Amino acid sequence: MSTIVLNSSVDIPLPDWLKKCITHSKTSNGNAESDRRFNDANLICRAFEFAYQLHQGQYRKSGEPYICHPVAVAGLLYDLGGSPAMIAAGFLHDVVEDTDITIEQIGELFGAEVRQLVEGVTKLSKINFKSKTESQAENFRRMFLAMAQDIRVIVVKLADRLHNMRTLQVMPDEKRRRIAQETRDIFAPLANRLGIWHFKWELEDLSFKYLEPDAFRQIQQHVSEKRTSREEKLAKATATLRDRLQQASIKCLDISGRPKHLYSIYQKMQRQQKEFHEIYDLAALRIIVETNEECYRALAIVHDAFRPIPGRFKDYIGLPKPNRYQSLHTGVIGLTGRPLEVQIRTMEMHHIAEYGIAAHWKYKETGNSNNSHLSTTDEKFTWLRQLLEWQSDLKDAQEYLDSVKDNLFEDDVYVFTPKGDVIPLSPGSTSIDFAYHIHTEVGNHCAGAKVNGRMVPLSTRLQNGDIVEIMTQKNSHPSLDWLNFVRTSAAKYRIKQWYKRSRREENVARGRELLEKELGKTGFDSLLKSDAMQSVAEKCNYHSVEDLLAGLGYGEITLNLVLNRWREVVKAQQPLAVVQPFLPKESAAANKALRDAPATSRASDSPIVGVEGLVYHLAGCCTPIPGEPIIGVVTRGKGISIHRQGCHNLECVEYERLVPVGWNPAAEHSSRPHTYPVNIQIEALDRVGVLKDILSRLSDQGINVRYAQVKTAIGQPALMDLGIDIRDRPQLEQVFVQIKKMSDILNIRRIGQIDE
Ligand code: MN
Repeated sequence: MSTIVLNSSVDIPLPDWLKKCITHSKTSNGNAESDRRFNDANLICRAFEFAYQLHQGQYRKSGEPYICHPVAVAGLLYDLGGSPAMIAAGFLHDVVEDTDITIEQIGELFGAEVRQLVEGVTKLSKINFKSKTESQAENFRRMFLAMAQDIRVIVVKLADRLHNMRTLQVMPDEKRRRIAQETRDIFAPLANRLGIWHFKWELEDLSFKYLEPDAFRQIQQHVSEKRTSREEKLAKATATLRDRLQQASIKCLDISGRPKHLYSIYQKMQRQQKEFHEIYDLAALRIIVETNEECYRALAIVHDAFRPIPGRFKDYIGLPKPNRYQSLHTGVIGLTGRPLEVQIRTMEMHHIAEYGIAAHWKYKETGNSNNSHLSTTDEKFTWLRQLLEWQSDLKDAQEYLDSVKDNLFEDDVYVFTPKGDVIPLSPGSTSIDFAYHIHTEVGNHCAGAKVNGRMVPLSTRLQNGDIVEIMTQKNSHPSLDWLNFVRTSAAKYRIKQWYKRSRREENVARGRELLEKELGKTGFDSLLKSDAMQSVAEKCNYHSVEDLLAGLGYGEITLNLVLNRWREVVKAQQPLAVVQPFLPKESAAANKALRDAPATSRASDSPIVGVEGLVYHLAGCCTPIPGEPIIGVVTRGKGISIHRQGCHNLECVEYERLVPVGWNPAAEHSSRPHTYPVNIQIEALDRVGVLKDILSRLSDQGINVRYAQVKTAIGQPALMDLGIDIRDRPQLEQVFVQIKKMSDILNIRRIGQIDE
């Protein structure tokens, strides 16, 4: 299609630079051209032609042909010093979105570089900003930087946005406001970050115009009212300085009143709570000279011509700002007696101040314009470094360091929620990481994920700009497999937590078993419900006894530790145990009754400790003997009943009625040993004389037999129930051993409400 359009009549007015470019491409044999980019005029012209044809028949809301917009965008990029590829991308930036052309076709026709730029801009254009907070806006900006691997993409996008802002008037009010807000939140700060001051202030002023129309109009009016008188005064000062500089033979490239943009005046008024007329540095002069040395000489002349205001001089040439801004600033008393601000800089410094990162292009020697910027990794890093250096708008050093970290391209991946919030994740993160980032419950019930509207495997790595939607189901739960691909430690931790919790019942049961083995079955259930056990749990940093058991079962806490805490708690409670917590409601009376009762124990000679001063008796159901673990039960009206631990009769006893008791070792050695009744049952072959043999064997050992009862049935073993008096557990065991040795004895066991 090479020059069809250019030969036919083009129905829009073309800017001069483009006309020149077209002329140059037609007569491209060798005329030396100051602008090297015209060597690549063919690329620029082809891009224009292509866009012109594709957008033909399309119109903007204002009614003008659509092509006016890409032409304006390309023009902004041309003015900024952009390379031919960037200018071409300016022409082509909307064709993929708005016409049938694919990005592959762009690549085939215009090469990889143009394709990359157009693709980047198209991607960014699809992003729908719904930012509400400053932190979200910052996330958007960072995502922008991360997405546009090539910063030139952002510059093209900024040019696109600037032209759209310039032509925003035709849009309905609501859309205007939305776009203006987005521009203020995202694009102006980006322009500022890239140091393109020139874009920044215009984007800010245009946003200001649509967001605060009244304030904007007011300031605009003030500025234009004062302009004439201000300009007159400035003109005098300008003339004076121009003369003095000439006398000193300093070549002054430019000296002019510096326009201050409206939004910055507004911000200053807001910030300093001042009226318009109080903002006096509206009067400002900028002097542009050739060399650094001349800057300082010019400064001396300014200070000689006007009286300097102390404290207003700043040397940003010797000490450049972090964004590489360089200039001399000073304040003097002007001809009207009002302060006058003066900036002195070279042309290069001026370009850097105005165009920021883009100024780099103007001063960069590119012998071959195809070999354009950022083509090598090295250059990319240079860009990156500059970008980072230029983040002067950040609040403090820490924030700066953080942003350096965050802006290293591969450092984070930014994705969207369906509502449009930006979520930063570690690179390599998956939908599961995303789900857990949103909420633990979303992660725990994640059943599937859609990325950009399509179902994907949960292990799919997310890319910058992906819109991620998590499907949850009530009965879905994490899979251990997830641990193999989740990236963030938060997600890993929560999956593990879930597993820990989900096996809770199992863990509680195991913990229970372990603890029961140690503390005994007797009253164990009520023990678990007791306040004492609750405080053991709390001492072990658990909310509840069940948590404690789960922790014990899971191995999070050792049995020994639990037992130690238990002992501490019991010890602390023991002094009280006798008097208060173990007594029934009518405690005062009961207490008195107990004390007055005849068979109370006295401290040292009592065989039982823990019941001092109280009536007690040994329970008939389980007949405890010394050497066996025992426990006391407060009965109603019968004092303390002493049971063996594990007695079935204790299972329904409330914990509050249990009294810790034990055998008194001192009493065992008293002169006349005490004996205790024990019931045993012997199973033997039913033969004549077997009972007699047993009784004589017991008698041999000095054991008193209180009663004996034999039950026989034909063809069955004989059952003998015996009541014997026993000193202690070792003696009873001895008895068992002796009887078992006898012939015809089948079995021997103790009788009582307890499993032996
Ligand atoms: Mn556009």
